[in-house]
Amino acid sequence: MPRTKFLQLAEVFERLEKTASSLAMIDILADFFPKISPEEAKISAYLLRGELAPAYENLEIGLADKMVARAIAKSENIKVEKVKLLYNKTGDLGLVVVSLREMSRRDKNLKLKSSVVRRPNIDFLTVKEVFEKLIEIARIGGEGSQDKKINLLADLFSKTSNLEAKYIIRTILGTLRLGVGEMTFLQGLAKAFGAGKKDKEILEYAFNVLSDLGEIACIVSESGIKKISEIKPKVGAPIRVMLSNRIQELEEIKDHISGLVSVEEKYDGERIQAHIKKTGETSLFSRRQDNITHQYPDIIDGLKKSFAGKEAIVEGEVVAYNEAKGKLLPFQVLMSRRRKHNIEEYVKKIPVRYFLFDLLYLDGKNYLKQPLKERRAVLERSFSDKGGKKINPINFGRYAITDDLSEIKSYFNDSIKRGAEGVMIKDYSGIYQAGSRGWLWIKFKKEYQKELADNFDLAVIGGLYGAGRRAKTYGSLLVAAYNPITNKYYSFTKVGTGFTDENLSRLMKMFEKYKLKEKHKSVETGMKPDVWFEPKIVMEISGAEITVSPIHTVAKDKIKTGGLALRFPKFLRWREDKSAENATTVEEIYNIYKMGVKK
Ligand code: AMP
Repeated sequence: MPRTKFLQLAEVFERLEKTASSLAMIDILADFFPKISPEEAKISAYLLRGELAPAYENLEIGLADKMVARAIAKSENIKVEKVKLLYNKTGDLGLVVVSLREMSRRDKNLKLKSSVVRRPNIDFLTVKEVFEKLIEIARIGGEGSQDKKINLLADLFSKTSNLEAKYIIRTILGTLRLGVGEMTFLQGLAKAFGAGKKDKEILEYAFNVLSDLGEIACIVSESGIKKISEIKPKVGAPIRVMLSNRIQELEEIKDHISGLVSVEEKYDGERIQAHIKKTGETSLFSRRQDNITHQYPDIIDGLKKSFAGKEAIVEGEVVAYNEAKGKLLPFQVLMSRRRKHNIEEYVKKIPVRYFLFDLLYLDGKNYLKQPLKERRAVLERSFSDKGGKKINPINFGRYAITDDLSEIKSYFNDSIKRGAEGVMIKDYSGIYQAGSRGWLWIKFKKEYQKELADNFDLAVIGGLYGAGRRAKTYGSLLVAAYNPITNKYYSFTKVGTGFTDENLSRLMKMFEKYKLKEKHKSVETGMKPDVWFEPKIVMEISGAEITVSPIHTVAKDKIKTGGLALRFPKFLRWREDKSAENATTVEEIYNIYKMGVKK
């Protein structure tokens, strides 16, 4: 297979950038991927998402815009001030390179096609060469690393055309934003290598298990869809977590589950998937697949002491715990363990308990398709619960097995008394549906009994400047729900209450990085905030009622007279543990609305 030039990939980037339609994106991807080698497919999958490795590896190039400006100045042989001046005007270093080169071309009166203008006598770089160079730059560390990075980058820029340079720069700065969602990408692969809907589901399953688009693109391009259907979990690669649906009254359980359920305490902490390797090396992943191993040396140590097998993937909730009083503490307390330094001090200051509730993989066997009953039995056989003794934070989550509604109700009441936020009700014969929100797991919280069901986790897409006391910050934020099928964010409400003064004073800085010149192409709203943001930050809010609005756009296609909107929203907390793609979905909101209409 011919070695693909990076310019070809840059042209694909350009076509993707110009469209907001998922269908058009799928066609572009389906056209490109069969033409390249499996290795190039892997690399291209990462680069298309602005990454160098699967997202969970968090491999960043580590260069700020100032450094990239220096590299541009060096490669273009001009003063850095000139680069900065243009940057201040456009806000995009990718475009700065293009205009700098066009200016110099004009000076020289050259007439070349702008997209392929390049330095003479140099071959176009291949996809692999560019990728390897970026990896090399990302891995440079230690003393003088910034200068080394700048030199390598300048050298790379000098070998590229305008179009290539523009996209390389955006990749480095994390501002590529082609808007290719994970599902869109998989649909593109299904169209390229498969035949229809079933193949898309196989690819989705593989992604839910491996969380690595590059690996999947490589396997499918090398060996086809059949090979991908045999995929097993890999210790060290986080499995996308199973999610739950909500009900408003416990009576509704029977509409979804018949037979035995496991009714479990719903802890208000952080979900952690623990991966224990045969070597003993253990990694902890958050629900959004960040590697948070360094935050919990106490859990790592506890797992070592409790585990009787060789290798495993297990899940549980970590909760801050008052050992003296034997009480669960709220989520906010746990969040103070989110830190880079003084971890050991905080291990003592804020002890935690890790309540295990599921087992997904053990000693070579994939348990994802096994019923909960079996997974639970194996979990309890393979780990020892120290039953609350201080020497080990590993516990099994509390649960009861029943098919009796009155027992579920009293379990719920007891859980609330103990400080839990509610219960999870799980089909005892249900499989682990990685990455999806089905009805095998149902959540029920105390808020659900009140007028409006639950809180929402929404992505912030815009800011409106404040007045009076809030003149120097945003007075309110525009927030949106996510639809994984269309890969778009739909505005749901504007939140201005519930912020503490400290929260308010931080807003400007917090969102600075995500400011956009115009509306992000994956955002749908009838509202015009003062500033648009890239959907990145998620906040939890409560509200009093869902109504139909002419401005907001949630489930607009279903409601017809308008979109759904939340009234009387109130900020509750930031959800650092969720990415924008983990925000409450449009479908969830529509279901809640329908429940309300039925009443
Ligand atoms: P929510 O974040 O409101 O959608 O609720 C689901 C979350 O509850 C999961 O992602 C877990 O972090 C948490 N959780 C707490 N206790 C349990 C449990 N026993 N089983 C499953 N999830 C739990």
